[in-house]
Amino acid sequence: MDKVKTVEPWLQPEGKEPDTEYLAPDEDMLHLAGVVSCILCGACVSDCTVMEVDSNFLGPGALAKSYRFVSDPRDDADSERLTKLNEYGGVWDCTRCLKCVEVCPKKGCPNGQDNVTKRKGDGIRPYEYKWGPSCQAFVDSVKHSGWLNELMLPIKSFGIFNIKAMIALIPTGIRAQLNGKRPPLIHKKISGVENVRRIFEKVENKK
Ligand code: SF4
Ligand code: SF4
Repeated sequence: MDKVKTVEPWLQPEGKEPDTEYLAPDEDMLHLAGVVSCILCGACVSDCTVMEVDSNFLGPGALAKSYRFVSDPRDDADSERLTKLNEYGGVWDCTRCLKCVEVCPKKGCPNGQDNVTKRKGDGIRPYEYKWGPSCQAFVDSVKHSGWLNELMLPIKSFGIFNIKAMIALIPTGIRAQLNGKRPPLIHKKISGVENVRRIFEKVENKK
């Protein structure tokens, strides 16, 4: 409950108080039906994979509550709410494992990031899942050797013929070298790489 309180789960409208109640169009509230039906059972919090290892994370319950108010057209505190959610422990610490969605008895628990970003990305950098060269390079590397080839990842992501990007990578490479963090020049396969490949085959055959 303490974490829920930190997101100030109450309406904060600005301007002149209406004579009757604060009204919102039905269509603006329909998408909130899920989070409004939250019964604060805490199942999402108990099962959140990040909260288990990071007590600083706001967690799905608080994020669901925050989303409920960020997306309410009658609320005028979006900017402050989103700024807080953008900080350490906020929305970006959610890994989108979807465990909270799976266990929510009300099916009203959009996962931590979706809570806030799908509807109100303004103020928070948009979170996009785009399959691009870096994703493909990541997958290819793990499939080939069983682990990530960090040396080749940026090169394959930007493209080796992207001279500008390659030059821009040089200072990072030098820093990595000086700090003893340069990935190995020869990227060896892990033992048991065939088991990793079997997982890939299984997933690919399911598509
Ligand atoms: S999706 Fe995010 S909030 Fe939900 S359980 Fe996973 S880490 Fe926690
Ligand atoms: S599991 Fe669902 S109903 Fe329970 S606290 Fe989380 S969002 Fe609310």
